[in-house]
Amino acid sequence: MPEGHTIHRAARDQRPMLVGRTIAVASPQGRFAAGAASLDGRVCTAIEAYGKHLLYDFEGEGSLHVHLGLFGSFRSTAQPAPAPRGAVRARLTSSTHVVDIVGPNRCEVLDPAGKAALLARIGPDVLRPDADRTRAMDRIRASRTAVGLLLMDQSVIAGIGNIYRTELLWRAGIHPSSPGTRLSPAQVEHLWSDACDLLARGVELGAIVTIDDATPGEGRYRERVNIFDQPACPRCTRRIRMLVIGGRKAYACETCQKRPRRVTRTA
Ligand SMILES: [Zn+2]
Repeated sequence: MPEGHTIHRAARDQRPMLVGRTIAVASPQGRFAAGAASLDGRVCTAIEAYGKHLLYDFEGEGSLHVHLGLFGSFRSTAQPAPAPRGAVRARLTSSTHVVDIVGPNRCEVLDPAGKAALLARIGPDVLRPDADRTRAMDRIRASRTAVGLLLMDQSVIAGIGNIYRTELLWRAGIHPSSPGTRLSPAQVEHLWSDACDLLARGVELGAIVTIDDATPGEGRYRERVNIFDQPACPRCTRRIRMLVIGGRKAYACETCQKRPRRVTRTA
């Protein structure tokens, strides 16, 4: 499942393939036919990631907005590219490369007002150098909502998904059901900077690696994690507890991450 690092890595990989080039845009699957026709034959001027959203700007008006959701993916290949396979919503073809957008949650053309409205809804992104970290930290500390939910709320802080949420809180020794208001400024500052470090590492490695000095694993997603879907805590060896927060599985070591008193609701 793509978290912010996947989208930033896609932006970095696709820029040299598409930006500054005339792009043929098609919808092999057909569900994006009208949008593709409106962008076809124009020059791509920029590709930017904001949280889990990717935006392609084109000469003139209009941006292509892609959100992969849980199951979407990008497939890029050098020319000559093979015929599209599977549910390819959009195919972007330059003189040198082909990028397929497969099974996304959103794939749409936005006008400038639509793009501005989208960006206004996305909170500070831990992977963007222009992010307003103070705004994100203030929002967390002002909220009585469980920090495990706040870290997944893309309007509060953008880019963090289910695995990073669990790992960041374990690394910080904070229970996921702790309200934002119970966190100290130093704890929130630490969460922000550790998120920046871990997601930047994810961009470099193309995998979620939250164990210090580890390298990507052999599994399908190549992740290397401390407690997410793991049986025991690597720090204290106690059993890892599975919680459901915001409808998604989360994990905690309730020895290393003390449950806050008088707070039991997490979802
Ligand atoms: Zn532990």
